[in-house]
Amino acid sequence: MPGTNLTREEAQQRASVVSTGTYDVALDLTIGDERFGSVTTLRFEATPGSSTFVDLVDADISAITLNGTSIDPALYAESRIPIEDLAAENELVVEATLPYSHSGEGLHRFVDPADGKVYLYTQFEVPDARRVFTTFEQPDLKAEFTFHVTAPAHWQVVSNSPSPEPVVEGEHGTWHFPETKRMSTYITALVAGDYEVVRDTYSGEYGDIPLGVFCRQSLVEHLDADDIFLITKQGFAFFEGAFEMAYPFGKYDQLFVPEYNMGAMENAGCVTFRDEMIFRSRQTVAAYEGRANTILHEMAHMWFGDLVTMKWWDDLWLNESFAEFAAHHSSVEATRFTDAWTGFTNARKNWAYRQDQLPSTHPIAADNYDLHAVEANFDGITYAKGASTLKQLVAWVGEKDFFAGLRAYFAKHAYGNTTLQDLLTELEASSGRELGSWSQEWLQTSGVNTLRATFEVDGDGAFTSFAVEQSAHPDYPTLRRHRIAIGLYDLVDGRLVRRERIETDVRGERTEITELVDHRQPDLILLNDDDLTYAKIRLDERSFDTLLGHIASFEDSLPRALAWGAAWDMTRDAELKGSDFVALVLAGVGTETDLTAVASLLRQGSSAVNLYTAEADRPPLAEQWESGLSGLLDAAEPGSDHQLALARAYAAAASTPEKVQSLLDGALEGLTVDTDLRWTLLTALARIDAVGEAEIAAELERDNTISGQEHAAAARAIRPDAEAKAAAWRAVAVEKSTPNETRRQTALAFQVSGQGDLLEPYVDAYLQMAETIIEEQGVWIGQVALVYLFPLANPSARTLEKVDTWLESTQSGPAAKRYVLEGRDDLARALRAQSQ
Ligand SMILES: [Zn+2]
Repeated sequence: MPGTNLTREEAQQRASVVSTGTYDVALDLTIGDERFGSVTTLRFEATPGSSTFVDLVDADISAITLNGTSIDPALYAESRIPIEDLAAENELVVEATLPYSHSGEGLHRFVDPADGKVYLYTQFEVPDARRVFTTFEQPDLKAEFTFHVTAPAHWQVVSNSPSPEPVVEGEHGTWHFPETKRMSTYITALVAGDYEVVRDTYSGEYGDIPLGVFCRQSLVEHLDADDIFLITKQGFAFFEGAFEMAYPFGKYDQLFVPEYNMGAMENAGCVTFRDEMIFRSRQTVAAYEGRANTILHEMAHMWFGDLVTMKWWDDLWLNESFAEFAAHHSSVEATRFTDAWTGFTNARKNWAYRQDQLPSTHPIAADNYDLHAVEANFDGITYAKGASTLKQLVAWVGEKDFFAGLRAYFAKHAYGNTTLQDLLTELEASSGRELGSWSQEWLQTSGVNTLRATFEVDGDGAFTSFAVEQSAHPDYPTLRRHRIAIGLYDLVDGRLVRRERIETDVRGERTEITELVDHRQPDLILLNDDDLTYAKIRLDERSFDTLLGHIASFEDSLPRALAWGAAWDMTRDAELKGSDFVALVLAGVGTETDLTAVASLLRQGSSAVNLYTAEADRPPLAEQWESGLSGLLDAAEPGSDHQLALARAYAAAASTPEKVQSLLDGALEGLTVDTDLRWTLLTALARIDAVGEAEIAAELERDNTISGQEHAAAARAIRPDAEAKAAAWRAVAVEKSTPNETRRQTALAFQVSGQGDLLEPYVDAYLQMAETIIEEQGVWIGQVALVYLFPLANPSARTLEKVDTWLESTQSGPAAKRYVLEGRDDLARALRAQSQ
């Protein structure tokens, strides 16, 4: 039975008999708080006499009419309405009501606890437009859409087309939107409610684009629309120039919405973002850089994804990797975030390397044979490895030819659907390079290569030979062609300065680099300098010694990012002791200029202590980490980003309440104790049982917002208290009614290092829950529970044994098994590192 699934084969079959024309969708948002009305009129062409089906999930259908003849609504089953004996031209009308969603999928409805205002938004990717209207839910059946929305007359109602003036009758209004451009169902959208809006206009080479930024009324005081518009305009100037093509969808609204499951979504002309990106408390520059990156990512999708769309989800990676590549590239070229690729190296690539070394790894071009497979693949490979590989492709064909190929691709396929091959064809034409074998070795295979330098040096310290050796995990033996740079760095007056950079192709097990023969051995050799390729790198002994003493001495942030990455990677691979990594972080984090690196190093340092260090060695290292952070915090410049980042990290490491309490009392000069930092500090106190339910409830009274509720839920879940743990467990893994972001924040706070005894019962409970949760609660809730509640925080051989026993005997489906297997790999890795 299909349930809500749809296979690629079914989609192909349907596209072979049907081609869509237009949807006319009337939605009534005034019939109550639980459900809304949905009437779809779908006009389409078909092979005469053929049969197929349309999609609709969870509907209560009152009438179905096909070409004037009614169809019995009782035939609606398994989220499908069968339609038979089609004519050449068809008109299908489906009248139904559907439930509002509280999981962030379909039409989500939210009531703001701060003021009781109502906010709605849709989220349709991958297959959820069918939770709002009747569809052919597959990306290659593009159509034009006309929406009519009836809602309270004072609301803002926004969709892909410009919002018209509503036709008002009493308290209600109806917005008759103009027809959209031709697009896929998954990028259509509706946002409605008591939203506030700020408007502006981008005036560029191809004319004006009306801009809007929307958020909840209770967030308006924190909305910095100027910065959002600045990045938006810089983005349009860059993309319209680079693509030599006007923005295709008329106006451009960006809507910051509550309880959003993802970062953002590229609905054509109607982009939704999680509203945590409206910062209500002080954030470091990394948060602004991240938000700019997200704005640019979604904007890039307007051309790549929305204008030209993948035929099926097999090319999801290409869609996402391109947007990720384009976001970083345009950040560097067009905004103040000129070191954006450093942030990519410091955060996104570590995500990719981790994912690619899990037993669940898969080729970038995954075989997404059905919707369930697609949903599991929104991962570090699809996004970050794909983007790294695209960056490598740009290095391989050259930036100029890459963009020339893109322009030809957009011009040729505008408003259509494509596969990877269509892009490769244009890139081969523009670059003159054959890309079939490149695509085969990079996109169709799994795993990450490791590169290391080997060389010999004569009596004068000059290289007599130099080679790059490449290796691969035996399970994924593909050795690839890599375009890389090699940097030679010397210590000059206390700075690590690049003396020389060469760019070269590496292939096979060993590549001789004759260019470097006779060159003097530097203090540090950096493979993959400038981060052109995707590979783990190892440092030779002398380079590593230089690094240990001088990581803070690199002149630029990008080589330092590569060095940090190598050190972290070696720690995870049990080649570097956790204590050495901690010492390295404490030596370098205070002067690290990339705030994305600061945040991830502080997280990694904590993991090095709690996961990658043997139990017997942990107490002194934990003390060193805590006091090191305390010292760095005291030394940080008052009011600086470092001070804020270190205060958060110190709070997470603190084992006694005094200093945390004094921070909370505002005792540290320059550290503004605002709403979110108060929660961070209070949560630290809750973790060590210095405050309890009464203090958490009092704090929630001060901050009775949805963010406050989420913070309070996390503070409760982190407490070393059996009842609090039991309640948190129920909220995440049992109760259906927990709001989605509250569930996630609770789950994130549940597993705590040092609470091993208290958490012991939740090893068995986890494995029992894993057996059924996806079937009972669906993929989204199941994923949150299975990923964040995995018993990793207190690694033990006993837990590993139990997990292995479960894996041998489980009856659960492939998705649950995948998440448990990934947690198992992290656990085994931690135990390996601990035993070194
Ligand atoms: Zn994207």
